[in-house]
Amino acid sequence: MREELLQLIPDESRVITETIEKKYLSDNLGRKIGTAKALVFPVSTEEVSKIMRFAYEKNIPVTPRGAGTNLVGSTVPTGEGIVLDLSRLNHILEVDRETFTATVEPGVILEDFQKYVEAQGLFYPPDPGEKKASIGGNISTNAGGMRAVRYGVTRDYVMGLELVLADGSVITVGSKNRKDTTGLDLKDMVIGSEGTLAVITKCVLKLIPKPEKSLSLLVGYPSLKTGIESVPKLFQANVNPTAIEFIERKVVALGEEFLGLSFPIPEAVAYLLLTFDGSAEEIDNHIKTVDHVVKEAGAFDVQILDDPQLLQNVWKIRGCLVTAVEAVSEQEPLDIVVPINRIDAFVNFVNELEQQTGMRMISFGHAGDGNVHLCVVRGERDDATWEKELDENLSILYHKAYELGGLASGEHGIGLSKQKYMVRATNPINLALMKRVKEAFDEKRILNAGISYDV
Ligand SMILES: Cc1cc2nc3c(=O)[nH]c(=O)nc-3n(C[C@H](O)[C@H](O)[C@H](O)COP(=O)(O)OP(=O)(O)OC[C@H]3O[C@@H](n4cnc5c(N)ncnc54)[C@H](O)[C@@H]3O)c2cc1C
Repeated sequence: MREELLQLIPDESRVITETIEKKYLSDNLGRKIGTAKALVFPVSTEEVSKIMRFAYEKNIPVTPRGAGTNLVGSTVPTGEGIVLDLSRLNHILEVDRETFTATVEPGVILEDFQKYVEAQGLFYPPDPGEKKASIGGNISTNAGGMRAVRYGVTRDYVMGLELVLADGSVITVGSKNRKDTTGLDLKDMVIGSEGTLAVITKCVLKLIPKPEKSLSLLVGYPSLKTGIESVPKLFQANVNPTAIEFIERKVVALGEEFLGLSFPIPEAVAYLLLTFDGSAEEIDNHIKTVDHVVKEAGAFDVQILDDPQLLQNVWKIRGCLVTAVEAVSEQEPLDIVVPINRIDAFVNFVNELEQQTGMRMISFGHAGDGNVHLCVVRGERDDATWEKELDENLSILYHKAYELGGLASGEHGIGLSKQKYMVRATNPINLALMKRVKEAFDEKRILNAGISYDV
């Protein structure tokens, strides 16, 4: 395959076939390692198209890859295929102030893009925890993150895409138009499809004006239950938060130890971390209301994070939690989502299950949109026990989530890790439709072939 690929990309440094580094055969966790015959780094749509045409003609599996920060095995290649690394397609092509859009290549890193537009008084709201992820990866997983409560998720900011299809043809879907009822929405099918339908080679993104001010608040509670219970009360008070995160003190302690930083209100058992965007006056009014609402709901302290260093430390700790738990023990990260009025029921269920089974379960996450990040911790279990007990507990947890009207994934995607549980809980008619959509885009099933809906 090497010689054929070198004819398509005549640059030895961008066609690797000898020893492929393990990180390119895995996800961010590095536990599942796949197989591939080649790793290629295209730098243009044309190169992506040539590779796809070649793979299509020869029936070779292709796994698209952004920054590899996913947590669900969605960049674990299968068979004797090609890993298509899009990280060198990494240019910001245009910022169009008249339509409030930006056009970028998929390998642009989220934090670089955010900084770039903010320096021009513009704002790209999607803000998942991992800022080193790529825009193409964010789109392919429909990434959510902290600011989804107010602004929505990545899907809400994707206006158009250039795609290379499985057979190498290049199309555009969506546009710079603010409205579109022009046939079936192919763009929305590709968003969140985890590299299974097409390769994204350009992205037209929606921007908004940068908010005048942003302020975070930390609220300390005597229990997680009181914290979670105050979330619907905040919505009812119409304070329009940008982010509402929940974290238990025991989880914060892991982050503090991991980073060597400290969190305010150490006597709390649980916290809500809130952010507000807007004018100074708007924020002041919201903060007064929040102070009243949360104290009435049982909070014992509210701290305004107006010291930049403190603010940075608190968000750094919140941002490192998956990694901090991982540093203590192997763990399975879940991102179950439930309706916002069922978070309390779900987190209480998790705590009871932890007591019953003795398997440590650490939950934190996006309280404002019902997205619970749950780390199921391996501890000292040997391989066989871990596999068996993890599967038993995941079955129970996913079953409960669906019973509460929730879903297997709010933002991380299905990947290889959640297929079994998602398939089990999804109506067979819906699954059959998903398979037919897959076939319509990729009838030879060469794109990210490991992810399927017929487990
Ligand atoms: C510490 C930490 C915190 C995180 N926090 C969050 C969070 O708050 N919210 C959240 O949503 N996620 C979070 N994630 C998960 C992860 O960062 C996201 O899923 C992210 O969107 C993946 O982007 P990536 O560039 O790393 O994509 P990758 O991991 O490389 O790929 C992810 C999927 O996208 C596909 N893909 C990538 N690029 C393309 C392309 N150009 N065309 C077609 N398919 C493509 C791949 O095939 C794969 O299926 C977190 C991860 C970590 C490690």
